[in-house]
Amino acid sequence: MFPGAGDSEFAFELLVSRWAELAWHPTDGRRPVVVARQLGTKERRWDTVILEVDRDAFARRRLFGERGLDSDLLRVVRGAPPAFAWYRDALEDPGFPWRYVRAAVHRAAGRDLVEKRRGPNGRVEFRRVREYPDWVERVVVVENKPDLDASAARALAGQLRHDLDAGLADEVWVATGATGERVSPALLEDMPVEVGVLEFDFDDGVDADAAEVVWHPTRLDADGDPDKRLELAERAYGKGWRSFRETMRPDCRHFELRREGRALVPHCGAKGRVPTAAECSGGCSEFSPEPPQWRTNGWPIEGGPGKGIRALLSRRRERERERAERAGADPGGAAGTGTEATR
Ligand code: SF4
Repeated sequence: MFPGAGDSEFAFELLVSRWAELAWHPTDGRRPVVVARQLGTKERRWDTVILEVDRDAFARRRLFGERGLDSDLLRVVRGAPPAFAWYRDALEDPGFPWRYVRAAVHRAAGRDLVEKRRGPNGRVEFRRVREYPDWVERVVVVENKPDLDASAARALAGQLRHDLDAGLADEVWVATGATGERVSPALLEDMPVEVGVLEFDFDDGVDADAAEVVWHPTRLDADGDPDKRLELAERAYGKGWRSFRETMRPDCRHFELRREGRALVPHCGAKGRVPTAAECSGGCSEFSPEPPQWRTNGWPIEGGPGKGIRALLSRRRERERERAERAGADPGGAAGTGTEATR
């Protein structure tokens, strides 16, 4: 790992996520993707989720806004009729009280996802604004283990077996640090053979060539619950992998974003390394609020550096979404470059 990464799995995970934006797919040629981290179902949380998307359908999905749609909103948006109709006529019986569906119709209308009106007898009617597209082509999950020793590999094998059996993913990978060994230690352990193995060399941060495929995954059937799969995709779309901007403390005077190759990674000046997401929080004993004058005179971004960092990371997310939409039409593809100042 690059100097200052500490022993942070978190830093490794950020770099794997950024690499996926730059270089996915590792063996089958470039594909437009949306990348998210720390996402899952009730049963399982994945480190990195990569959605391969249909470019045109993804552009139409983006018209529904930058936030993800939860299962209640998805029911309303996908079931919305072309002409105004009473919601109980338009939608299938949900199997729970209709008032919850009505509340979701109001919520969807509040986000301009559908149109609503009062029909005869005061009934709530709604119709689609646009058709919800079939934008997700493949779902890939990646488990990140920078130091994959024997006991970590044994523990991981059971989780990976669950991932394979759940039927939500089209491919499952393990990402680990390069060891320089002739045979990757990951292959010597009891891994399911359907799981691909990627080795990363992040000594100089991340670039598109940072990965080596040491084992190819098996293409899976992904025959699990399609609604669950779409809900996962929507959450991935809404969250992305830069969501640490919301949970960490960029408003601390010690917080910086540092460039590590082609990624922007959090750095704590007080600790001299990448802080973990858990320690860089309101409970951090070394937290020190940015001085008020940083927020006013001389700072080029309104609101001070903390707000500026959050805004910059949001812009990065939007830029990558735009690239996914243009991928294939754009000779720079989804990789592109970026030189925005950090702090
Ligand atoms: S001192 Fe604590 S809160 Fe401040 S940047 Fe470092 S880890 Fe985050």
